[in-house]
Amino acid sequence: MGRRCQYAGGDRRGVSAGGGDSERRPATVVAQAGRRPEWTHGIVNPPVYRASTCLFETLADLDRAIADPDAGLYYGRRGTPTQWALEAALTELEPGAAGTKLYPSGVAAISAALLSVLKTGDHLLMVDSVYEPTRLFCSRTLRDLGIETSYYDPTIGAGIADLIQPNTRAIFMESPGSLTFEVQDVPAIVAAAKARGIVTLIDNTWATPLLFAAIGHGVDLSVQSLTKFVVGHSDVLMGSVTAAPGVWERLRTTSYRLGQTVSADDAYLTLRGLRTLHARMERHGRSALEVARWLEAQPSVAQVLHPGLHTHPGHAIWQRDFHGASSLFAMILREGGRPETGPLVDGLKHFGMGFSFGGYESLILPVEPHTIRTATRWAADGPLVRLHIGLEDPGDLIADLEAGLLRYETALG
Ligand SMILES: *Cc1c(COP(=O)(O)O)cnc(C)c1O
Repeated sequence: MGRRCQYAGGDRRGVSAGGGDSERRPATVVAQAGRRPEWTHGIVNPPVYRASTCLFETLADLDRAIADPDAGLYYGRRGTPTQWALEAALTELEPGAAGTKLYPSGVAAISAALLSVLKTGDHLLMVDSVYEPTRLFCSRTLRDLGIETSYYDPTIGAGIADLIQPNTRAIFMESPGSLTFEVQDVPAIVAAAKARGIVTLIDNTWATPLLFAAIGHGVDLSVQSLTKFVVGHSDVLMGSVTAAPGVWERLRTTSYRLGQTVSADDAYLTLRGLRTLHARMERHGRSALEVARWLEAQPSVAQVLHPGLHTHPGHAIWQRDFHGASSLFAMILREGGRPETGPLVDGLKHFGMGFSFGGYESLILPVEPHTIRTATRWAADGPLVRLHIGLEDPGDLIADLEAGLLRYETALG
């Protein structure tokens, strides 16, 4: 048997590898997931295989490979043990999942997930609080393919049933919304979808599978921008979709036909980030709630939007469905507008201003949701400022924000 057989021992397609188990708690799964001796040969981490061509020693080896291309090494686009280890690890983190595909960005993951379950003539229900590039993919690319999207109130819950049309094929959720932090009643929406045979998808980037078990809650396709928490160090763009058994084959084949693949170097860095995800999420969540509670008590802050706060309208659902707090939330400032927000953010020492989140470093971003949504209205009086609380000392971050809010008040005059 040829070289290819080195990797044929474990079925990497994931169906047999899926699901998590009851003996290991999540922190243990994060440390162990995806580590298979036939991929690592006694080393802790998988090697970085930079590969396009995989060589076959004999014609018989080649023919065996052609008969079952996913049983082992075949061609670089189908991955190597470096990518397979990350896919298997992400599948293990979602109890009940059948497999995971990787994409060069979170947006690529979202578009592949949607294309794998929709065709011309179909109707998609999309949450109004969704990440803006997802909306753009629906309003342009899906529209041009003859797929219609309508937007729904993120707090709709079981009421989603009234919006289902005869041609509705998919319902897309993002919970909480990553600008405005509405928590969706995922079990109620999944129940309404299942009753009509409709596929459900969720953008689970805020929570990661550690804080919200999407597949376990009955969602069919769970999308992550791994760029955020899993990578964790602001140096790689990558996305993933983890699928329940009923939709896995469609996701796998569509992604393959779209040519979606990631480099072994990026997969390695992402897997390296994953190993510390549990510890980082605990620290992110604890610090974020500390900063959020402090902000809530400040006179220039009208409202803090973190589902982990008792004052948050989605707190009860969050407490029921989630395992912890994430780092990302927003504050609504009293009065003022974008010009007065300038002195606040421009003078901060410990927060960078920019897109994304999930890295070790804290970020701040003034955002304007009223310009984006269509099904619901964003009616807050003051400016909305989003914060990602990194791994710095929260006391230092609070002192920085205290000085910033003072500059804001001075600017208000
Ligand atoms: C960042 C983000 C994405 C897109 O991820 P990229 O890796 O930047 O393409 C998708 N959804 C949410 C909620 C995000 O925050």
